Amino acid sequence: MSKNPIHVIGGGLAGSEAAWQIAEAGVPVVLHEMRPVRGTDAHKTDGLAELVCSNSFRSDDAENNAVGLLHAEMRLAGSLIMSAGDANQVPAGGALAVDRDGFSDAVTAKIEAHPLITIQREEVPGLPPEDWDQAIIATGPLTAPSLAQSIAEATGADALAFFDAIAPIVHFDTIDMNTAWFQSRYDKVGPGGTGKDYINCPMDKDQYLAFVAALLEGQKTEFKQWEGTPYFDGCLPIEVMAERGVETLRYGPMKPMGLTNVHNPTVKAYAVVQLRQDNALGTLYNMVGFQTKLKHAEQVRIFRTIPGLANADFARLGGLHRNTYINSPTLLDPSLQLKSRPGLRFAGQITGCEGYVESAAIGLLAGRFAAAERLGEAPSLPPSTTAFGALLNHITGGHIVSDDEPGKRSFQPMNVNFGLFPPVEAPKAEGKRLRGKDKTVAKRHAITSRALADCRQWLGLPARAEAAE
Ligand SMILES: Cc1cc2nc3c(=O)[nH]c(=O)nc-3n(C[C@H](O)[C@H](O)[C@H](O)COP(=O)(O)OP(=O)(O)OC[C@H]3O[C@@H](n4cnc5c(N)ncnc54)[C@H](O)[C@@H]3O)c2cc1C
Repeated sequence: MSKNPIHVIGGGLAGSEAAWQIAEAGVPVVLHEMRPVRGTDAHKTDGLAELVCSNSFRSDDAENNAVGLLHAEMRLAGSLIMSAGDANQVPAGGALAVDRDGFSDAVTAKIEAHPLITIQREEVPGLPPEDWDQAIIATGPLTAPSLAQSIAEATGADALAFFDAIAPIVHFDTIDMNTAWFQSRYDKVGPGGTGKDYINCPMDKDQYLAFVAALLEGQKTEFKQWEGTPYFDGCLPIEVMAERGVETLRYGPMKPMGLTNVHNPTVKAYAVVQLRQDNALGTLYNMVGFQTKLKHAEQVRIFRTIPGLANADFARLGGLHRNTYINSPTLLDPSLQLKSRPGLRFAGQITGCEGYVESAAIGLLAGRFAAAERLGEAPSLPPSTTAFGALLNHITGGHIVSDDEPGKRSFQPMNVNFGLFPPVEAPKAEGKRLRGKDKTVAKRHAITSRALADCRQWLGLPARAEAAE
């Protein structure tokens, strides 16, 4: 059996975790990191797994929070990123925040000391050479330009994005369907639709004018100097559209034509906000054309004034920022392998996950999959009920491509969230159906305990009572 090394390109959150998992499986690794030979616009040190902005891994609550659950699963899987994070924790309430230098130093020291890992400080300028039969590209949101160009050439220019233009995504079960209704514009069925593919939220004239005024007044996030102002056709922020004239949105993403409000059929809406199904499970809907640079708190405040969204819970809020990522649902197989080049995997934020923890988790999976193949085994995919599986499915298959906007990329990076998990029935309390917050909490507990039990089974660990996690 070949014990040629597996090459990991990029020593960030994902690449460091991937290298660790491969080496722990007994397979040699060469980790290629370009810093300090070449820097990025955000990294400041030459340490591995440098945190470029916040020092938080977000909630550490494995029972009630999806990223907390991901922490727990990563710990079960022997994650280097989590053990270095735990060892360098700083006080942050229910969140796991870390001393960024201590954390990066700990990851670097562990990787340097591992007998099966060699670190090469060099830029990899293009796709891995053919004699690197197993390789993982984990070069992150700020992938060096010449490698990014090679990836674009190999995958098709349309398949690589350099900016997120993100519209907010809403949990379906928080949309008020007594106000909103299902209907496609002009009841068009299209190639894969039903004629009822969109959720429509109606506005009268006063509501529309107040909404446009709120967009204009709302606080916006500034672009970083090196980001420029990357407005492309088709992804203008809604507040920029609103600046162009009070009617612009009504002739753009908020046009009311071809729609009849089933709750009030004789009154024509003055404007309509449409939401489109975002994942195969049907638990998430994105707000069509609502990419925005409004600050997150402002988005929540203003978008909850939309009829039907008063209680909306957002799986992610809108944004527009520099990010290099590939169109994973079309390019990668379920084990993160480039379909057109077996043996070459992608990991981390470049696959279309978002955040330190998610990037490391995808690095962990890519490392395990690559190591298994090197050892002559089939990669073992995590169950879709686990946080690992939910995130992996979002990247490699759960996303729905819209048929009505041909040529437009609709896959957008996302943090792990409960909307990515297969739904569960809300448990009953003493035989009675739960409602409201109690129902939400009970469903979350059911999802997280199912996930941890399934994760243990996947990893071959003994079952354990969930309360002991
Ligand atoms: C400005 C900014 C702020 C962010 N803030 C946050 C935040 O607050 N919280 C959060 O959770 N996430 C944040 N993110 C996202 C964050 O970058 C990712 O979640 C995480 O770092 C991604 O991990 P990664 O391993 O995929 O990429 P990275 O951690 O960026 O690692 C990629 C590594 O690859 C190296 N590299 C690149 N090209 C090459 C090449 N050709 N050859 C060799 N090496 C190469 C880089 O030097 C880098 O070390 C931010 C991103 C940016 C750009």
